[in-house]
Amino acid sequence: MSELRREPLTGKWTIIAPERSRRRDAFSAKGEKRSRCPFCGGGNGLYEIYKIDGPEGWELKTVPNRYPVLGIEGSLERSGHGLCDRITGIGANEIIIDSPRHGLKAADYTEKELLNLFRAFKARMEDLAKDMRFRYIAAFKSIGEEAGAVIDHPHSQIVALPVIPPSVKKELEASAAYYAEKERCLSCDLLEEEIKSRSRIVFENYDFAALCPYGAAYPFQVSVYPKKHGHSFALCGDGSLKQLADITKEIYSRLASLLNSPAVMTAVSTAPLKDGRPDLKGELSYVESSFHWRMDIRPVITGASCFEWASGMTANPVQPEEAALYLREVAVK
Ligand SMILES: [Zn+2]
Ligand SMILES: [Zn+2]
Repeated sequence: MSELRREPLTGKWTIIAPERSRRRDAFSAKGEKRSRCPFCGGGNGLYEIYKIDGPEGWELKTVPNRYPVLGIEGSLERSGHGLCDRITGIGANEIIIDSPRHGLKAADYTEKELLNLFRAFKARMEDLAKDMRFRYIAAFKSIGEEAGAVIDHPHSQIVALPVIPPSVKKELEASAAYYAEKERCLSCDLLEEEIKSRSRIVFENYDFAALCPYGAAYPFQVSVYPKKHGHSFALCGDGSLKQLADITKEIYSRLASLLNSPAVMTAVSTAPLKDGRPDLKGELSYVESSFHWRMDIRPVITGASCFEWASGMTANPVQPEEAALYLREVAVK
């Protein structure tokens, strides 16, 4: 069974998952090409957790990950190992097969396929939130090998975690501190400024604004914010999910036209689960008002960087204002 270990010096949790090393391509530099795609058949008889059917058959399926980083069975146990902390590797690891269509690039997704995907994110988040062992539900997708997709069939992942990921924790703390002082949401204030200045805005529709963040870590990284305050992706109505599909399609198409169909990572950043969970430092007290969910989209056009590993910082060669300008003006093919 896997476990979560925390290094006392950095405070970071790592999932130690020895079962994953049984995966055929776990340690090879590049995954071997598979002769048959396991997702074309809709998961080859794996248990269907969630499914969307259409007139021609299945349109989306959610199945358990055959090589999960965390296991769903068992109880959550915490223990100390000297100065280090350990939690049993309890969690959920689901694969969403986004579409029956093999080999889609980001810009090939239809709005309907993206809407199905966002509906699946929401449904799985709502369901997994009922499990009191979980503190956070991560929803993300990689398209293309450079973005970490091992299988060339459009798929996404849902991972329910027994801890709040460090990146979310930092944002939670910053949002809570801002709210405690001003009784306003930090992201709502930032967004208002961005929409006024327009220099980093890429695209807007009725419910969402897409922008290149002021201190973007990666070139052409885009964040999509709901214009109306909301702390949780799972509370998004279906009308908003349609708007999210619309703006995602737009950003994927612009990135493809400008950067020749790069590999793309997409991740939802949403509030940690609150109801019935302990909040020992009080960061979740006003989370409904202080935290603002968003979705980040990052084309993968720079290779691994030793500087990033060595310093925890990145060097972005494209000024976010320029990136936004290029993305605003690119003609979508
Ligand atoms: Zn396939
Ligand atoms: Zn807000």
